[in-house]
Amino acid sequence: MEKWSVVRCPACRNCHGTRTRPRQCPHCGQTLASSTPIVATADSAAQLRIEVALANTPEEIRDELRKKLEATDEPLVAINSTSPRHLYSLIVKRAGESGIIHRNDVEDVLLKVESEMDADDLLDQLEINGTIIRRQDGTWQLLE
Ligand SMILES: [Zn+2]
Repeated sequence: MEKWSVVRCPACRNCHGTRTRPRQCPHCGQTLASSTPIVATADSAAQLRIEVALANTPEEIRDELRKKLEATDEPLVAINSTSPRHLYSLIVKRAGESGIIHRNDVEDVLLKVESEMDADDLLDQLEINGTIIRRQDGTWQLLE
């Protein structure tokens, strides 16, 4: 069975998922030692998303979030099957060289493909995957 790991970056304290041993933090670029502690493991990519989201959540609301995420396991998979790769490539195109994403860029992309997905849901999804990171000014930065 495939094993995924969730590791916490010692520099920025953000967690992300990795399939192999820790290499580099997608949030701040810190090179991670192979001794970086694994905070959780998962058997699937879907489970990994939940574990990463939980690991990045304050402990006091973690139980509540876990219930919510595990209850909505299906929608997570559904989002996956609406070709996130395609949506992501369109968003990358919109972002251009700056790699900065605005919420209305995402809305435009979703509108264009006639997706009923909510822009915030998609942004959350990409953020959980470690594909983008939220900036202080309310925009997002592409990491890949
Ligand atoms: Zn980091």
